[in-house]
Amino acid sequence: MKSMFPHEESRVDSGRFTTNSQSIEYGPWHISYDVSCILPSVCSTKVVCERNDDQFCQFCIYCKQLSIPHFPDMVFPKNILTLTHTSGAKIHFDPLDALKHVASTADAIEVSCSEAWLEARPDASKPKRPFDWTFSTDYKGTLSDNIIVENTDEEINFEILKRKDQILFYHDLTLFEDELHDHGVSKLSVKVRVMPCYWYVLLRYFLRVDNVLVRSYETRMFHMLNTNYVLREFTSKESNAQDLKIPTSQMKEADDVIPFLPVKEKVTHKLIVESETKT
Ligand SMILES: [Zn+2]
Repeated sequence: MKSMFPHEESRVDSGRFTTNSQSIEYGPWHISYDVSCILPSVCSTKVVCERNDDQFCQFCIYCKQLSIPHFPDMVFPKNILTLTHTSGAKIHFDPLDALKHVASTADAIEVSCSEAWLEARPDASKPKRPFDWTFSTDYKGTLSDNIIVENTDEEINFEILKRKDQILFYHDLTLFEDELHDHGVSKLSVKVRVMPCYWYVLLRYFLRVDNVLVRSYETRMFHMLNTNYVLREFTSKESNAQDLKIPTSQMKEADDVIPFLPVKEKVTHKLIVESETKT
C-alpha cells in the first residue's frame, strides 16, 4: 500500500483563485479535496467572458450552467471532494452539480411553505420568476459513467463507524450556504473521514425556515477497504416546525434537530467501482 500520509499543496489556477488542496492515497483510492474562496456575485472578467470562447469566470460558468435566477449567498465553487479509484471510477461532490438539482421550473412555485415564509418576512420581495428559494437539493454526489449502481439490502454498518480507530484523513467542506434573509439556514456540506479499514462520506443538505419547516437530505457513502463497492444511503427527512416542538433557538445546528425529524424516504444502493472478474 502507498503512503497513508496526506500531503498538502497550494496552487493558483488559471483564474485568481488560490486553492488549497489536500489528498491521501488509500489503497486503490486517491481522495482529495480543494478549499477555495467564495463565488463572486458579478462577472470578474467581463472582457474575457464576453468573447464567449469557452473561457469564463466562475460566476459566468454558474450563470450558464444553472437555470435558477439566484444563487445562495455563499457558494464555494471549488470546494470539491473527489474520490478516484485506480479502475477509473470517480465520485465527486461539487456545488455546481448540487445546484443543478434545485427546482427552477414553474412547479417550484409550489414549494410547500412559500406563503408562510413570505408572511414571516414581510420585507422580502418575491423572486422575479419562480424557483426554489430554499435551494433544496437531493444531490447525491456525481458518479463517473463506469460506476454500476445496483439495488441492495445491505446496510451501512454503523457499529464500525462508531469504533474509535485512528483517523487518517478528515475534512468538513461547505459547498454552499444561505441564511434566507435571516429567516433560517440552507446549507450543503460534505464530510470525509478515512480510517484504517474504511472511508466514509456524509453529504448533508440542511434547511431550517424559522417557525415553518425543517428538512434534511443526507447521502452517506461507506467503503470497506478491499471490497469493490461503495454503499450509498440516501435519507430524506422533513417536519413542520410546529410538529417538532423544539424552540428555534435549540435547532441552530443540523445535529440538534436532524435526529428528531421523521424519515420520508430512505434508500440504499451499491455502487460497484470495479468488476468482479478483474484481476
Ligand atoms: Zn464572467
